Amino acid sequence: MREFIYDQAASRVVFGTGTVKCLADEVKRLGAGPAIILSTPEQRTSAEAAARQLGQLAAGVFAEAVMHVPIETARRARETAARLNAGCCVAIGGGSTIGLGKAIALESGLPILAVPTTYAGSEMTPIWGLTEDGVKKTGRDRKVLPKTVIYDPELTLTLPPGIAGPSGMNAIAHCVEGLYAHDGNPIISLFAAEGIRALARSLPVVVREPEDIAARSDALYGAWLAGTVLGAVSIGIHHKLCHTLGGTFNLPHAEVHTVILPHAIAFNRQAAPEAMRIVADALGVEDAAQGIYDLAAAVGAPLALKDIGMPEDGLERAADLATRNPYPNPRPVEYAGVLDLVRKAYAGVRPE
Ligand code: NAD
Repeated sequence: MREFIYDQAASRVVFGTGTVKCLADEVKRLGAGPAIILSTPEQRTSAEAAARQLGQLAAGVFAEAVMHVPIETARRARETAARLNAGCCVAIGGGSTIGLGKAIALESGLPILAVPTTYAGSEMTPIWGLTEDGVKKTGRDRKVLPKTVIYDPELTLTLPPGIAGPSGMNAIAHCVEGLYAHDGNPIISLFAAEGIRALARSLPVVVREPEDIAARSDALYGAWLAGTVLGAVSIGIHHKLCHTLGGTFNLPHAEVHTVILPHAIAFNRQAAPEAMRIVADALGVEDAAQGIYDLAAAVGAPLALKDIGMPEDGLERAADLATRNPYPNPRPVEYAGVLDLVRKAYAGVRPE
């Protein structure tokens, strides 16, 4: 017997090669006035190009976005938006830049137009995050869900294989956890399965032939689906562990997701057989955990925590922190099981 609640906040999504040319029309359509344009320092050129394209509709550029939205950066961005009299935010970049837009929206209610250039998926979620004194706080608020999202695969052509691979695996992690979420629903499961299919077939091409625009488009399509899944349903042990490891040991976000995912799947294997079958089918393999591990290897992404800066003497602390206030998860989250999971992820062994 099926029982579910489907309560999906909608965004306007404009998808296709060259769609960034519609930016001015889309800002006009929001009807909120001129935009503050956000980016990381590395992507300032893209932000400045957008400002030129917007002309009178650009209030200014703020190119100081960094990972995990430090509160000081958020404050400076909020002050700049107010000083420039911005009516909306245009965030061009990955999760860090879109996260900064959300920090502005959370306080001011300014609408966000997101132009994602990675596969992290933040543009489709009402989830915000802010880091103060080394502690990252997150929450959900529909105010921060971008009103419009422009997905232009051409903007991802510059995403190097070393960022694209882990970023795509991060997106697959959203899909996997959506399939066994306690508050999942059939529409979101369809999105999740299709997201895994699209990312699994495109990512190996994206890293092997970075100029292949069809593969870039397919990967971005998968990322849209994955972001929608993350925004709509809850996350489990995988995301909890990644947040703990990222926050406590300052490990790189997408890489942690890549390394943990096969082991989180193996951890939940017996408790969520239907989700595992869907993941394995989407990958075209027998076993979901092994299939994800092999995909990460095929895209040249890291496979072991020891290779991305995790100290071996931190494993017990990580398992302890991840078992405190656990998120709902198909298999009960207990210390011994989680310690075993992180030990295997530390070594980078293929799940049995
Ligand atoms: P990121 O935004 O930090 O970008 C990583 C690097 O790649 C940056 O230097 C950026 O300038 C560069 N970059 C991005 N796109 C590029 C492109 N097309 N070409 C060249 N360089 C490019 O990384 P991310 O993985 O997208 O985001 C990670 C952050 O997002 C984390 O803080 C994570 O917690 C957050 N996140 C939030 C949500 C949410 O729903 N709130 C979802 C996913 C991730």
